[in-house]
Amino acid sequence: MIDPFGRHITYLRVSVTDRCDFRCVYCMPEHMDFLPRAELLTLEEMERLCGAFIARGVERLRITGGEPLVRRDAMRLIERLGARIGSGLQELTLTTNGSQLARFARGLADAGVRRINVSLDTLDPDKFRRITRRGELSKVLAGIDAAQDAGLKVKINMVALKDLNRTEIPAMLEWAHGRDMDLTLIETMPLGDIDGDRMGQYLPLSLVRADLMRTYILEESDHRSGGPARYVRVAETGGRLGFITPLTHNFCESCNRVRITCTGMLYMCLGQNDAADLRAPLRASADDIGLHAAIDEAIARKPRGHDFIIDRRQTKPALRRPMSLTGG
Ligand code: SAM
Ligand code: SF4
Repeated sequence: MIDPFGRHITYLRVSVTDRCDFRCVYCMPEHMDFLPRAELLTLEEMERLCGAFIARGVERLRITGGEPLVRRDAMRLIERLGARIGSGLQELTLTTNGSQLARFARGLADAGVRRINVSLDTLDPDKFRRITRRGELSKVLAGIDAAQDAGLKVKINMVALKDLNRTEIPAMLEWAHGRDMDLTLIETMPLGDIDGDRMGQYLPLSLVRADLMRTYILEESDHRSGGPARYVRVAETGGRLGFITPLTHNFCESCNRVRITCTGMLYMCLGQNDAADLRAPLRASADDIGLHAAIDEAIARKPRGHDFIIDRRQTKPALRRPMSLTGG
């Protein structure tokens, strides 16, 4: 699949549920309205949809959510997709908050998953509860232990938040690199209604980088993980540090990805509202002809890039759709 700007679309993010056991302050309001279960694609439909994308050239799949591991049959989907690795699909990965990892790490490794991203914004248990509104840090840490024991390569994703974790970034860096895990820092993006003041939490990573350079030597690296992160190597720790900067630096020119939600909507850009309904063609016929046509038609509409802007007076989100619908 090649879009109108010549970009090869080889990466698909699949949100298997919009539900989550956490309510991270930058992601959702405390009282989140989740979709009725009847609207969700079944496991079989999700597998068929992923199969159609693999047939059209997708090589890497990332399972996400909401929290993917709170969907009861998520592991079955992961096992079935894992069985396709080597036949078109090259890699199957997962992004998780880690709360259920202790239980599922071994199964993930057995299914063929080799790398996972775990979201973790603080190592302080009280602050962890404040940011996630209900998470238990010890469970996530036990999950990370289990994942490493199972042989999974773990990357930590940390959303940089001005008042909540700015001073903790060096400690997180030392901890992650000390355990042979890359760390990627992410700027908050204006997606979905949250209860708080989003721009009050926004911390440009240019400032974080300047903070870190007072203590560390950050060596430019041309490492790419296939995503929007730009990496440096931290000379003192020998580990890798990534920066995802949707607001201060536009990364759209090399975008290779699209996203499907748990109801079968295909979003061609995380930062735009345009989407294509794939559930209708999926259900209209048992063969995939209409589905393939709908995918091609949607890829032909992939926009050049997002329109996120930094507007400190902005009280409403740029897009009403929360990150938990498309899974980041
Ligand atoms: N629940 C899983 C997790 O937290 O890893 C998977 C889904 S979550 C939506 C995927 C990633 O998006 C997480 O790393 C999370 O921190 C990040 N995220 C959520 N809302 C965000 C926002 N408004 N801006 C930037 N990143 C966000
Ligand atoms: Fe849940 Fe992930 Fe959103 Fe946090 S960031 S509320 S863990 S979906």
